[in-house]
Amino acid sequence: MKSYHSLIDGQEYVSPAQEFFPDFNPRLAEQTHLIAQSTTEDVNVAVAAAARASIEWGKLRPLLRGRALHKISQLIMDHKENLARMESINTGKPPATAIREIAIAAEYFEFFGNLTSQSAGDLIDIGEGSHCFNRREPYGVVGVITPWNLPLNQLARSVAAALAAGNTVVVKPSEHTSASTLELVKLIFEANILPSGVLNVITGAGATGSALASHKDIAKVSFTGSVATGKKVGAICAEAVKPVTLELGGKSPNIVLADVDLEQAVAGCVKGFTSNAGQVCIAGTRIYVHASIYEQFKELLVKQLKTLDQSADNWAPIITGQQYQKVLDFISEGEKEGLNVLYKSDNADVPQKGWYVPRVVFEVANERNCISANEIFGHVAALTPYEDIEDCLELANDTEFGLAAGIWGNNLNQIYHLVANLDAGQIFVNGYFAGGVENPLGGFKESGLGKEKGIEAYMNYQRSKNVVISLAL
Ligand code: ADP
Repeated sequence: MKSYHSLIDGQEYVSPAQEFFPDFNPRLAEQTHLIAQSTTEDVNVAVAAAARASIEWGKLRPLLRGRALHKISQLIMDHKENLARMESINTGKPPATAIREIAIAAEYFEFFGNLTSQSAGDLIDIGEGSHCFNRREPYGVVGVITPWNLPLNQLARSVAAALAAGNTVVVKPSEHTSASTLELVKLIFEANILPSGVLNVITGAGATGSALASHKDIAKVSFTGSVATGKKVGAICAEAVKPVTLELGGKSPNIVLADVDLEQAVAGCVKGFTSNAGQVCIAGTRIYVHASIYEQFKELLVKQLKTLDQSADNWAPIITGQQYQKVLDFISEGEKEGLNVLYKSDNADVPQKGWYVPRVVFEVANERNCISANEIFGHVAALTPYEDIEDCLELANDTEFGLAAGIWGNNLNQIYHLVANLDAGQIFVNGYFAGGVENPLGGFKESGLGKEKGIEAYMNYQRSKNVVISLAL
């Protein structure tokens, strides 16, 4: 069985501790690789390499940083089949889905590579006698902690922005999906695109992530993952007054107005909660439908889910045995609470080997039940009818999360009213998951802090320094 090690300072780094943990293919529920468990000393080695490299990288002509990022983008596209194969083994997701995610990873490097030569600050007029301006500078070394649901895609999202902004990076991938990250960074090393130490990967689980976030030379942290762990990382950063971007969980509402194109809305709501088996932070798992079209909506929903279930290509497994059990437990709890099960995949359709769970839709009246209140991270949705748009808004906002929301319909007044009043960092109107690497993502309330993606993210990976030069005139 192949063993994977950290990648530090342009080469493989073998931890003196020689400890490993297993990695699994969720599609088969079988062990695939061994991944090195890094110690705090190993983290120190990685951060020291990144700190050495940051002196040159941060001062490099930004245009040249952009050129390096474009080369990485091209490298990803040149190896996309192999990377997708690895991602598919890592996560169990169908290769076609993995290929799409990897093409987006390449786009992140392209997009952020394009930004490096944009304005680096601004001039502030404070009157004659002074020259006043803001300089934008990199932080130094950024620690990036990534999750397991879209590993390479989410890695590219933060790493490309951090590197473009002039930082060097130490990445700690999820312990469940480290192999694809290591394969990609090995390719970058082999292609000699970046100076040694600019990009490093330290493997390990939570303790390694915690050691990275709390390292004194990590100047900024980017974390994507669960709310519970995000709070811990946030607390570490608060203690050191260290900037942190937290992209956490969600329980996003998908609201269907009365005047909607029903086929389109049902398809969008299905995609919203079933993509990647619901293991997407912005999944639309609470569906609110106007009472006048509720019965028709239900009929179409069941029909579309049945069709989806019957194709093996549409199934993705849950990432770990533990997570799989957690999703099943939520489904049983919903049933025990007496919620009406509108839809549950037929046993014959659910793949029998691997960590696959049925798709389930519960009908609920409000948010006070285990299905509506919790982020399940599986393809389980709560469906609720509403009469009045204000009641719907109240239900939609009745959650500690605030990551995303969807609206389906044509009534501009109602759409705009919802857009203005929904507590969500991103809103999709008539197209769930629309957008690209260019538009910012970041939650309100417990869903996070700061933004990833887009120009806003790039700015978040730099600090601004104000300079006033007094002139003797
Ligand atoms: P999950 O529990 O679903 O794996 P997490 O939010 O715990 O999701 O994991 C996301 C990332 O955070 C992973 O890379 C994981 O190793 C890392 N992590 C877990 N615990 C901690 C911690 N205490 N400090 C820093 N990183 C952590």
